[in-house]
Amino acid sequence: MADTDHAALCVVGAVGALLVLYAKNRERWQTTWIACEGWHRKRSKFSFVRAQNLLLITDFDATLTTGDSEQCHDLCGFSHVMPADFRSKFAPLLDWAANPDIDGVEWWDRAHSLMVQYGVPKRQLIPRLVREGKMTPRPGALELLRRLQELDIPVLIVSAGLSDVIEEWLRQHGALSENVTVCSNRLNYAADMTPKSVSPEPPITSFTKAYAYSSASSFFEQHATRKHLIVLGDSVTDVDASKHVPYEDFLSVGFLNSRLDGILHSQAFDAVVLGDHGSLLPVADLIDEVAPPSSLFRVLSRRSLSIPSANTSPLPSRARTEP
Ligand SMILES: [Mg+2]
Repeated sequence: MADTDHAALCVVGAVGALLVLYAKNRERWQTTWIACEGWHRKRSKFSFVRAQNLLLITDFDATLTTGDSEQCHDLCGFSHVMPADFRSKFAPLLDWAANPDIDGVEWWDRAHSLMVQYGVPKRQLIPRLVREGKMTPRPGALELLRRLQELDIPVLIVSAGLSDVIEEWLRQHGALSENVTVCSNRLNYAADMTPKSVSPEPPITSFTKAYAYSSASSFFEQHATRKHLIVLGDSVTDVDASKHVPYEDFLSVGFLNSRLDGILHSQAFDAVVLGDHGSLLPVADLIDEVAPPSSLFRVLSRRSLSIPSANTSPLPSRARTEP
């Protein structure tokens, strides 16, 4: 084969590979999201923000993972590698329809007491629990974390789950980077690899995320000069993690997942992404604006996507109360 033919074949192959990659990327990023009242006004302020002034606070379960993923405590309660007796005691706590204590902090106390009582999960089992569990990254989550790492933007994960599980999930996905701090419930292991207690006390729950500012005080001290916040979460209480944080500008994105009623989400968040597998597109776009990517391919991919217009949602738009 002549050199010119070989070169032409290489070019055709490379273009074909790029097109396949592009198609996959495009499908991955397609999503439907709603701009609530105030989004455009607050979003426009971020046009002047630079990466060195930015902080991102995010929930973990059903935010960085898809809405239909197993959550941290599910891994412990459902896994067949856990003792049967423990699973039978833990099962009522995971029966979300029937559990009378689901709305209370007592749920976390009971769950953690059982884990300590049975000495599970053993530390060496956590990688297997995470590997075998169904904890799927939300479309765009790993790309976003990678981009935040590149830009050295601090990320605080505030979760009512388990630090040990979250850190292992991040590690297995190559996202446990130095810019990420996990503020969640941590199992305190003894030399025999069994948990003897869980900290902090009281636990971090869906209802107490406002304690994040004091629980992660060293994180906020270290990054005190960063005054622009992005907050992500799938529960309306996830925005509480920004309470008490002295910021100048704040933008929040919520994930409705499979919930039918989005009224509370439209009140709590500045934008709402729909569906269990809705992507992190609004956040990725924002980061691209703060720090324009150098990759031509990424720019072309992004421009080709259809960005939904604001306020076309069936959800009512209401301004959130700013502090
Ligand atoms: Mg969540």
